[in-house]
Amino acid sequence: MAQAIIDLNKLRRNLGRLRQHVQPSVRIMAAVKANAYGHGMVKISQTLQSEGVNWFAVATPTEALSLRSAGITANILVLSPSSPNKLSELIEADICLTVLDEASIQQAEEAARQLNSKARLHLKVDTGMGRLGEAASASLKTAMQIDKSKTATFEGYYTHFACADDTDPSYTQMQLERFNEAIAMLKKNGIEAEILHAANSAALITNSESHFDMVRPGIALYGYHGSNYTIEPSLEPILELHANVTFVKRVSAGQSISYSATWTAEKDTTIASVRYGYGDGYPRALSNKGEVWAAGKLRPIRGRVCMDQFMIDLGDDGIQVGDAVVLLGGHAPDADDLGKLSGTISYEVLTSVSERVEKHYIY
Ligand SMILES: *Cc1c(COP(=O)(O)O)cnc(C)c1O
Repeated sequence: MAQAIIDLNKLRRNLGRLRQHVQPSVRIMAAVKANAYGHGMVKISQTLQSEGVNWFAVATPTEALSLRSAGITANILVLSPSSPNKLSELIEADICLTVLDEASIQQAEEAARQLNSKARLHLKVDTGMGRLGEAASASLKTAMQIDKSKTATFEGYYTHFACADDTDPSYTQMQLERFNEAIAMLKKNGIEAEILHAANSAALITNSESHFDMVRPGIALYGYHGSNYTIEPSLEPILELHANVTFVKRVSAGQSISYSATWTAEKDTTIASVRYGYGDGYPRALSNKGEVWAAGKLRPIRGRVCMDQFMIDLGDDGIQVGDAVVLLGGHAPDADDLGKLSGTISYEVLTSVSERVEKHYIY
């Protein structure tokens, strides 16, 4: 049985290390979107909530509502604008909404008015990411609209960094300046959001000026630094992936392995099939490239990774059907290694772990 083994003690320790990097007054908003980067949104959020984390960030209304149904009472923010037909349900569940412009604010106000309630709004502005929101320098009018609203509260004002994981801090610095200028402009006009926030994991760790009132770590909680910097604190990856051997055979020189016969044995060797494939989230790009930990050593993947299986080379060593092999974490490569090897990043490797991989939690 393919298993994701997730150590919640390591999650707690990672949280503790991140807390040491921010002032005690700075709130932590844990990014648990995409099923907590593949780690299981509900368990991860429950664990963090019991450690005092009082904010969660998700990407969709469905994610927000399933956190509420699972008993998460903390504040929850949907990081993208929510479609109008979801707004009432979100407001009723006391979920904070991201708004970007006049139209999205009006929709939220209208939904709140019908419920005789108030929408908790976070205005997202663009300082250089180029993804969501109007330019920070042009956001005064929009902020005023929220500020004077009778059915909305101006709870958050935020932005997102494009290059916080870069070794060169200049782009982040430029984004910070734009954000600070916009905050000052709002203030001059008597407008202040309750909570200013900007920092993802990389900014949290590398740039204390980016912390404002709240930080939004994701990847660092799960034990990874993002890409291009490695500094203190040392984080622990919380996930290991295990799978089982389903078949073992001796292969003669000249025999080929897997689809398209891309690998041919040069000498006699033992090949084991492993019940894990790209249908479970293992990158197919690791065909003839990946390595797993099996029978006490790193073993190369031979041939194409299939949907449900791949094959590994044990040379003249033995392995039994049913034996566990480690695909990620422990002695095996971690998500950064697999990302680099397959032309992607740890985030994509982690979020790719599919639903059919059973999750086991260590408490
Ligand atoms: C995903 C996300 C984060 C968390 O980013 P990490 O790099 O995983 O720390 C923070 N803010 C926003 C807006 C996001 O979309």
